[in-house]
Amino acid sequence: GPAPEAADQANAWLDGRGRAFGHFIDGKWTKPGKTFVSTNPANGKKLADVTDGTEADVDAAVQAARAAFKGWSALRGYERGKYLYAIARMIQKHSRLFAVLETMDNGKPIRESRDADIPLVARHFYHHAGWATHIESQFPGMAPYGVCGQIIPWNFPLLMLAWKIAPALAAGNTVVLKPAEFTSLTALLFAEICERVGLPRGVVNIVTGEGDTGAAIVNHSNIDKIAFTGSTEVGKIIRAATAGSGKGLSLELGGKSPYIVFEDADLDSAVEGLVEAIWFNQGQVCCAGSRLLVQESIEERFLAKVRTRMAKLRVGDPLDKSIDIGALVAPVQVERIRDLMKKGVAEGAMVYEPDGQVPADGCFLKPALVTNVSPANTLVAEEIFGPVLVAMSFRTPEEAVALANNTRYGLAATLWSENINLALDIAPKLKAGVIWVNGTNQFDAAVGFGGYKESGYGREGGREGMAAYLKPLWEKDLKPAAVA
Ligand code: NAD
Repeated sequence: GPAPEAADQANAWLDGRGRAFGHFIDGKWTKPGKTFVSTNPANGKKLADVTDGTEADVDAAVQAARAAFKGWSALRGYERGKYLYAIARMIQKHSRLFAVLETMDNGKPIRESRDADIPLVARHFYHHAGWATHIESQFPGMAPYGVCGQIIPWNFPLLMLAWKIAPALAAGNTVVLKPAEFTSLTALLFAEICERVGLPRGVVNIVTGEGDTGAAIVNHSNIDKIAFTGSTEVGKIIRAATAGSGKGLSLELGGKSPYIVFEDADLDSAVEGLVEAIWFNQGQVCCAGSRLLVQESIEERFLAKVRTRMAKLRVGDPLDKSIDIGALVAPVQVERIRDLMKKGVAEGAMVYEPDGQVPADGCFLKPALVTNVSPANTLVAEEIFGPVLVAMSFRTPEEAVALANNTRYGLAATLWSENINLALDIAPKLKAGVIWVNGTNQFDAAVGFGGYKESGYGREGGREGMAAYLKPLWEKDLKPAAVA
């Protein structure tokens, strides 16, 4: 196959920074403090030392963001838009470096970081640059919150940063963002982009660290809004911690999204969609189509096609452009997934994995198809967040809806049918934030994304996502000109 994407440029960037990073606070880099190691999950090699942020670090970042808020929020929307356009262009200019660095830090296939993550990041900044120019006309009587604390996961490191920072800045907020501990590097490169486009200091502050650093952000009394993406478990802690504090809150949490295939579906397309739904990013996707529900009349035929396709998925070096499945983010995730599988098998599940070997070193898992499960099986009920598909069958459309909605989650759902009347009947009956018909994993900055039930609270992207970074302006805050 084609040669692996060269890591030279990313290694040169890391070497240039001494492979040791402090925080980006008030437009300046702090000295590395007490650090933890960021590793490449595909080979276990150390990439860099990253500082574990303290309460004092968070406080310094919040103060910088507070000081910057006055000037940033006073700019006209189109002036903020100019900075967002500049960031978008700079990300495009350095897209190769961003993609390789993301793949080295996270383990995702270079094809995905190059063709999905980074282009979507640029798109998100362009889109919100547009919003910034229209903010006054589209949201009259609304004002930015102030300082936003933003905490993100490791599965789409730079993209989750973009989802958080772009709308916050467009609306006139300033931010303190903490990347996930496994994947801080593209956020730190992003901080350099902010420097280079001359973003006023303190508007974007990046504080690295683990869960305690996140908790320090959540509990800081001078933050006006918290935006979190991550596990449902931590989301619940944050909702409890912010209750009664007056802080705004949005939560994007886990999922166990159904992928429904009706007997009249174009089965070959549905198989390709399924590959995208559950094996994209090693299945570490909050809206992954992880629960296959297939109509009984085609179950055997469809599952045979799925197994044949699975055997063709290439697992290996994520920098290799021909690889379909790269490394999971960290050994702890591999262990978590193995434990869940053991539990599910003990409860009666059967597991199919294609023949062949995966690299012995590094966080690699084969794609897996789980059958012979009831709704109570651990593998059906719990979010696995790995390359594991769980299959069940249904007889009638009503049964499909009942099975699909039989979950604590409600992030996304996919259905395949050539009968548009059936699709339009079923889609609104699915309790999920986004429903895809004859397609899957379609994202756009202009469309709101978010969940029901334990999948979250609030929306990101689109008009709803913009509104989530604005609050009603109190009359006492109105300038005389605005009142008139
Ligand atoms: P996680 O909840 O452990 O961590 C997410 C972030 O929160 C990290 O930055 C972490 O350091 C921080 N954190 C941990 N404990 C904290 C605390 N007590 N207070 C504040 N911050 C804390 O989740 P993860 O393992 O990084 O990500 C995987 C999970 O995220 C999955 O369950 C997945 O479904 C979910 N996810 C959801 C979406 C979405 O849009 N809904 C997107 C990506 C991931």
